[in-house]
Amino acid sequence: MTAHLAAAPPTPAFIGGAKHNLIGGQWVPAASGATIDVINPATGGALGTIAASDSVDVDRAVAAARAAFEGPWSGWTPHQRRKLILDVHDILLDNFDELALIETLDMGAPLSRTMGLREWTSQVLQFFAGQVDAGTVAAAENSLPGDFLTLRYRPPVGVVGGIIPWNGPLIGLWWIFGPALATGCTAVLKPAEDASLSVLRVAELMQQAGVPDGVINVVTGYGKDAGSALAEHHGVDRIAFTGSVGTAQTIVRASAGNLKRLQMELGGKSPDIVFADADLDKAVPGAAMGVFTNSGQVCVAGTRIFVQRAIHEEFVARMADFTKTIRVGNGLDPNTQLGPLISQRQLDRVLGYIDIGNDEAQLAVGGRRLAGEYANGFYVEPTVFSGANNEMTIAREEIFGPVATVIPFDTVDEAITLANATPYGLAGGLWTENLGTAHKVSQAIDAGTVWVNCYGVLDPAIGFGGTKMSGYGWKGGREHVESYLYSKAVYINL
Ligand code: NAD
Repeated sequence: MTAHLAAAPPTPAFIGGAKHNLIGGQWVPAASGATIDVINPATGGALGTIAASDSVDVDRAVAAARAAFEGPWSGWTPHQRRKLILDVHDILLDNFDELALIETLDMGAPLSRTMGLREWTSQVLQFFAGQVDAGTVAAAENSLPGDFLTLRYRPPVGVVGGIIPWNGPLIGLWWIFGPALATGCTAVLKPAEDASLSVLRVAELMQQAGVPDGVINVVTGYGKDAGSALAEHHGVDRIAFTGSVGTAQTIVRASAGNLKRLQMELGGKSPDIVFADADLDKAVPGAAMGVFTNSGQVCVAGTRIFVQRAIHEEFVARMADFTKTIRVGNGLDPNTQLGPLISQRQLDRVLGYIDIGNDEAQLAVGGRRLAGEYANGFYVEPTVFSGANNEMTIAREEIFGPVATVIPFDTVDEAITLANATPYGLAGGLWTENLGTAHKVSQAIDAGTVWVNCYGVLDPAIGFGGTKMSGYGWKGGREHVESYLYSKAVYINL
């Protein structure tokens, strides 16, 4: 179903013109003067430009971050950092309508989603504000002969380089700025070339909230230029990367020069298993939106839907009916549930997988690019393939679009085997009314997160992360904050 845009909210004054990098508290263009056109994926129209930075700009940003790390920021007390994070929290929430609108215009996600990030942003910032004591020095119990006092310090690791994708900049940036502010690190963030505007506006607001110059820096540009310069830079102590497996492998190699600490949050082909005893009134919309949310551009999307054979036919029919009710359209319309894909490139990629799916399996619903008033945007219908198996390309490769593959299975053990037959291990889900099945299968799925009778829930205090080819490191929770610290022991002979 398509949603029609009646009256769009006014475009924020921030949109348009040339946006610069934030380096050491100054807004500066790329040294080369190069820019990247910003495209609204809903219309194909222009939204201004961002800086196309290269290693020169990255050098400057890293130098600014280093100077800030060694400057007065290092003397800020945990209490001061907590207050700063809460001030950032307040200014962001006061300006969240504008931030949501910028994100919608820049990357296409509907306002119904981006406005919903207000509450999540509040939670995540309150969580990190509560973590400022993570580096507190502790007297360690020791087992030495003699009389020693041993102290275990947890100093911040230093300058953190953040590299994030375009699918949720207003989420992704907090996994770098949040722990950096909590622990006293400084950061250079390179957002994705396809979606940098909301990050730049957040950085302006963070400055207004009192974040000192150089503590956070934003350098926009292409991955091959600005991203690789950050990954290679010897002045960067840690890289927090979110993106694809191929880029992660390049970054791991590039970061070897100074043995950077790494956090890698990568892709997935997550299983979502529907058992015959599931409550289908919940499982059908739950599994469908587990794939289609954000037009399928979600790392944890439950794209392989395994359905027990006894209910397979009914499930496919009901999922197709549900999918037809999903409203696709311009994200500025408050009724829109799914917006466009991020770019022509991503649209071509997803349509390519739909072609493959048409050869491999049966199309149950969807499968087309939106035409007419949507022809200039990058819209594709939410799509369900059935009659599939786990070996098909559409069941093996991450599509990163609104494409679900439904696969039948017979037994619990078979479901577990199929679910784990993937190089990825980011997430998984299952739908059952049987407590034993819930426990058994959730433990057996090789993934960083498993949802039972729900999908995509995320508590910043718990966090998430991957295993296998979905990467390593953990985002959220105390573990994440501690990964911005290192350990140092001091032995005092009494
Ligand atoms: P991508 O790897 O192409 O790009 C991600 C970021 O890396 C961008 O900022 C890009 O400019 C940069 N980059 C590209 N080449 C680089 C290089 N050689 N050196 C340094 N940086 C470089 O990923 P994408 O297609 O933009 O994003 C989608 C991917 O991200 C999917 O695989 C998705 O599953 C994954 N993702 C994972 C999570 C998670 O938390 N696990 C969250 C969101 C997205």
